Amino acid sequence: MSVLFISDLHLCSSRPEINGIFFDFLAGGVRGAKALYILGDLFDYWAGDDDLADPFNAAVAGALAQCALSTPVYFLRGNRDFLIGERFAAAAGTSLIDDPTLIQADGVPMLLAHGDTLCTDDSAYQRFREEVRSRAWIDSFLATPLAQRKREVEALREQSEREKRNKPAAIMDVNAEAVASLLRAHDYPRLIHGHTHRPAQHLHTLDGRRCERWVLGAWHEGGSVLVCERGICRVEDLRSRN
Ligand code: MN
Repeated sequence: MSVLFISDLHLCSSRPEINGIFFDFLAGGVRGAKALYILGDLFDYWAGDDDLADPFNAAVAGALAQCALSTPVYFLRGNRDFLIGERFAAAAGTSLIDDPTLIQADGVPMLLAHGDTLCTDDSAYQRFREEVRSRAWIDSFLATPLAQRKREVEALREQSEREKRNKPAAIMDVNAEAVASLLRAHDYPRLIHGHTHRPAQHLHTLDGRRCERWVLGAWHEGGSVLVCERGICRVEDLRSRN
């Protein structure tokens, strides 16, 4: 049986084609898999679990819950949806997992991460990340009205898109030393992450040990899933049926 990994779908109600691929995937493509792991940025942004009242968000949670009746679904939060909480997890039938989380799949240790913690060359982003992940920031943010939160998150997202255009491409990729120390700290597992939107299979030789690092693809024109079965991983593209 296979284990499936996806990330960086950036779901929002204005991308019907991608949403269709996702709903088809949950209803059919996941069938028979041992588990589905969502490694962050499922949503384009998440302003708080009270946004489950939004019909699109409720539809996503409902489809996940339906899928989870036959296949366990695990959710690791990304930088866009780090405000996902237990209320969403319960509605979607998923279990929240930490970043990073080490699992065993067919005897292969696999370390799962969103990927943003590895982009240590982007020090402005890392400072921002530290601030917004603090309990104090989260509590005070969630205490403001949902409509205001959505406006703020959308403004932040636009600001980050503008800044990204001015940042050198290299600083938005993972830092080699950050990858090496993560691999060392977890005894040289296979590393699976997303975030950078640079899908690839990398082979690292570190301290005489060989480690695979799989970078998941973002869902832009189509979808993409990493399928790992009997210790071997491969990428499958998901296309719209129309
Ligand atoms: Mn991300």
